[in-house]
Amino acid sequence: MADPCILCVAITGSLPTKANNPAVPISVAEQVESTQEAFEAGAAIVHAHVRNDDQTPSSDPEKFARLKEGVEKHCPGMIIQFSTGGRSGAGKARGGMLPLRPDMASLSVGSNNFPTRVYENPPDLVDWLASEMRSYEVTPEVEAFDLSHILLAIRLHAEGRLYGKLYVQFVMGVKNAMPADKEVFDFYVHTMKTRAPEAAWCAAGIGPNQLIVNEWAIAAGGHTRTGLEDNVRLDRDRLAPSNAALIRRAADLCAKYDRPVATPAQARAILGLRPVAA
Ligand SMILES: [Zn+2]
Repeated sequence: MADPCILCVAITGSLPTKANNPAVPISVAEQVESTQEAFEAGAAIVHAHVRNDDQTPSSDPEKFARLKEGVEKHCPGMIIQFSTGGRSGAGKARGGMLPLRPDMASLSVGSNNFPTRVYENPPDLVDWLASEMRSYEVTPEVEAFDLSHILLAIRLHAEGRLYGKLYVQFVMGVKNAMPADKEVFDFYVHTMKTRAPEAAWCAAGIGPNQLIVNEWAIAAGGHTRTGLEDNVRLDRDRLAPSNAALIRRAADLCAKYDRPVATPAQARAILGLRPVAA
């Protein structure tokens, strides 16, 4: 049997609201409940943003603290990954939750266009976020929206500026950034294998690209992310009923390709993380 596949559930994000899909968890209590269902369906990592009561993005460390506490209580061993993405706060507010010492945090290392704006990740802010992650022993998951981000992540890691083992996620299908293109995907995988053979990689597809990118990643031996942050639909006609439903769909693909779904303990070993949440 092939290597275990780590499934990450991106539960909330900073964009989708209950108007898009009532199953998007907004309050911390809803987030914990949705995470637990996804955990029981096979998710080993939860990628989380937090929201204000009016559903707008928040960067409030107190909300992140309550979320971490709830996930640790209800999902023993699950890997907690907080977003330091750009929609949830400006500048250093993006890293305000890192002192909580989550297992992981997302890290964007370069800039690109999003559908309606520039996704700004200036080098000095990337350096600061990376140094905070080193201080608090938080392993970054580098979000690569472009080939240049993959190559930069490899260089930053080689220079000792990224804590822990290198883990790169290919994000494909964001409008105005890299589309979900199989030849590009194959080149990304080749780039990781040849230039960073000790690293691990995963991939996420946005919107209608979610399922096909899940399948590419699982078939190619990588890890993958799903969840309502990236896509709120099962298909053109149906909303996804829950984050767990999207994880189950990815787990079915793992079975198709004879890959066991990684347990949290296996995922921690693969990613070089501490055995249980500190
Ligand atoms: Zn996110």
